[in-house]
Amino acid sequence: MHDAVWVHARLAPMVGPVIRDGALATAAGRISWVGERCDWNGDARVEHDARGAWILPGFVDCHTHLVYAGSRAHEFELRLQGASYEDIAKAGGGIISTVRATRAASEAELLSLAQRRLRSWLAEGAAVVEVKSGYGLDRDTELKMLRAARRLEGVVVKTTFLGAHALPEEYKGRADAYIDFVCDEVLPAAAAEKLVDAVDAFCERIAFTRHQTARLFETAKRLGLPVKLHADQLSDLGGAALAAKHGALSADHLEYTSEAGIDALARAGSVAVLLPGAYYFLRETRLPPISALRSHHVPIALATDHNPGSSPLSSPLLAMNMACTLFRLTPEEALAGFTVQAARALGMQASHGTLQAGKAADFALWEIDSPAELAYAIGANPCVGRVRAGKSVLST
Ligand SMILES: [Zn+2]
Repeated sequence: MHDAVWVHARLAPMVGPVIRDGALATAAGRISWVGERCDWNGDARVEHDARGAWILPGFVDCHTHLVYAGSRAHEFELRLQGASYEDIAKAGGGIISTVRATRAASEAELLSLAQRRLRSWLAEGAAVVEVKSGYGLDRDTELKMLRAARRLEGVVVKTTFLGAHALPEEYKGRADAYIDFVCDEVLPAAAAEKLVDAVDAFCERIAFTRHQTARLFETAKRLGLPVKLHADQLSDLGGAALAAKHGALSADHLEYTSEAGIDALARAGSVAVLLPGAYYFLRETRLPPISALRSHHVPIALATDHNPGSSPLSSPLLAMNMACTLFRLTPEEALAGFTVQAARALGMQASHGTLQAGKAADFALWEIDSPAELAYAIGANPCVGRVRAGKSVLST
């Protein structure tokens, strides 16, 4: 006996062909059957008529910085008036302003701010959201951010430790000492509290070197944690190759990654996570190497990279449109980027990303004529239902 079945649905399982008149059943929070409606002869306690809606796997946003306090809208205004980054930093802006506000906020405040932001993802049928730390840059605030992230409701949350996001003011000129502190104290404390699903770093000229990143990755390995990397966003520091060398789940950004770096990612089976929101908001001009990623068969995931400084983007649908418009991804690649490939980027391919028997019954219903419409439309949200662990939930 199945708990529920959805009939008269069009299904995009993200593996195998689409099904024009399908049925999808659930039992005990998992998908228990999926296929053509004419082949369905099971028993279910509840039958839902999808009335021709498309059912897709719930979106997986595999790269966000959703937990933080403070706003950077004023900084946006200043930049539009011609202020330089230096002017903004002098006026107390930039990442340090987010760090200051996040340190000052309580865990309950951080949770409430992030939960409110999360509404947009829920309205678009999201199933999984990854959340990074990295606005504390001290032990207590990093842990506070991760605890707040773990308490978010409505989606499955994966937490990533990003203590090596930026150098805090109190370590100015002492980046190696800060990495020691992160490796010896902060990361082990977060791991001991079981707050960490993966470890990330910002490997860039304005952040941490390859050598410092490698030291952090060694610590992650000792603690049995997988790694990811903000790599080659602003320059080619060989970040992708470093991530691949450490068997990273993903390397993210990649605007400046060389062909050798892409080849290394392909060999390591790492996912390339592209972040069109930051490219758009920072008005970057260097495109990520899409054709080389395709020719090397590196799986491509997409994410919002939601953060207050460089990508205040709260819509997976808009990120898909940006990826097609700016990066020339196909709508099919964009959809895979927020489902099957994003699940891989979080090591969740066994439970999420496709509609297959045995996976979590986390999916969304869409009133659209074809899945390509999701990437095509700008500012529309045709999500008409969200199912979490087999249960229908309102989409807001
Ligand atoms: Zn990021």
